[in-house]
Amino acid sequence: MESFYQDVLRRIKKASEIIKLPEQIEEVILNPQRIIQLSLTLKRDNGNIETYKAYRVQHNDAPGPFKGGIRFHADTDLDEVSALATLMSLKNSVVNLPYGGAKGGIGVDPRSLSEAELERLSREYVNAIHNVIGPRKDIPAPDVNTNGQIMAWMADQYSLLNNNYLPGVFTGKPMNFGGSFGRDIATSFGGIVVLEEFLKKEKKLIKKQNSEITIAIQGAGNAGANAARILSKKGYKIIAISDSKGGILNKNGLKIEAILDEYQEEKRKDSSVTITESGGEFQKITNKELLELTVDILIPAALENQINNENAKKIKTKIVLELANGPVTFDANEALFENKVTVLPGILANAGGVVGSYFEWVQNNSGDRWSKEDVLGKIETKMKEAFADLDLVKTKLKTDYHTAAFASSILKLQEAMKTRGRI
Ligand code: NAD
Repeated sequence: MESFYQDVLRRIKKASEIIKLPEQIEEVILNPQRIIQLSLTLKRDNGNIETYKAYRVQHNDAPGPFKGGIRFHADTDLDEVSALATLMSLKNSVVNLPYGGAKGGIGVDPRSLSEAELERLSREYVNAIHNVIGPRKDIPAPDVNTNGQIMAWMADQYSLLNNNYLPGVFTGKPMNFGGSFGRDIATSFGGIVVLEEFLKKEKKLIKKQNSEITIAIQGAGNAGANAARILSKKGYKIIAISDSKGGILNKNGLKIEAILDEYQEEKRKDSSVTITESGGEFQKITNKELLELTVDILIPAALENQINNENAKKIKTKIVLELANGPVTFDANEALFENKVTVLPGILANAGGVVGSYFEWVQNNSGDRWSKEDVLGKIETKMKEAFADLDLVKTKLKTDYHTAAFASSILKLQEAMKTRGRI
């Protein structure tokens, strides 16, 4: 199978061809501006020394400072981080943020570390990259297996190294260290705004009440669990949800609030707990089975490459809302398009997270604090505008949402580079 990065590059090439982008410009967009590879050493609590590979890839900063999350995962490597950094440049352009794109990661399973070890490794990462990040240079945020606490350690380390209070260098921070109301649910909230804008536009696609619209969600972390809670409050029927160890299914609808309350409470005590161990009425299913369920809406909210050549033809849904980054591969997207399945692309569908981060950064820069309603209202407006823009491009180019999103963001990136005289 093609790597995630090759997959992203193929999408850029396809979109570039459609908009007749000059080859030399395409070459600029295919290549990140800066790639940083690190070996971080960690002294374990028992005195052993371990080495972890770590990365920060800065793709393009023509529209503004680099921006993109940091992931802690055993499989994280340069290829994955480069793909995600490239997607960030495009995502920030799709939602018209004054940011370029970047991404970082450490090849570590954080569950194998104590809290003290996790803090040391997080601070070590900042020691290694502090010269190339900053509130006006590159602003990281949480991603898979990183959270507000890790952002707080990192922002504190950066502030210590600079002998200055600089919370605006990281977003997704806790509320008492420059965090913003609404940032925790921003990704899912924004995704659901996009989903509902699409449903409003395509009224005939699902002619049902919310309570009859069935949804399956892969992933029960920040993106997946918050999406499940918001959708359930809006009355939709969540019939399946999973984590890395497996999923649960109830065709009549899961009691999602109660299940997630228990799961998240248990997970705080023991990070190896799985959602399949929660109490409630359901049958256990695998992640593979979850993706192939007959549902109105499928929400991959875990990792990349989940819907691929092997299962694309078995996907039985009308809409795929990509809350994860790159869960549907290039080939799978083509196959789904042929089968009339709409894929709402991650570079728009999960951009609520970075939009929320942007508003956190604005508040950090101004010293202001806005209410949750204010922040969510601003995210909603941005997401609606971005969907409307994308819909126009899709109609104009007579293509799918994915290709249209890549095409329009590449054009915006080209304009930003032109304005600054870089090309
Ligand atoms: P998270 O670590 O909070 O949750 C990840 C979830 O995926 C967990 O439930 C985990 O058990 C599950 N998972 C991991 N490996 C899996 C596998 N092989 N099969 C099935 N499930 C698996 O991470 P998150 O922040 O929710 O991020 C999830 C996705 O959303 C990622 O692709 C991330 O890049 C993307 N995303 C997140 C944000 C954000 O603000 N958190 C923003 C934009 C995009």
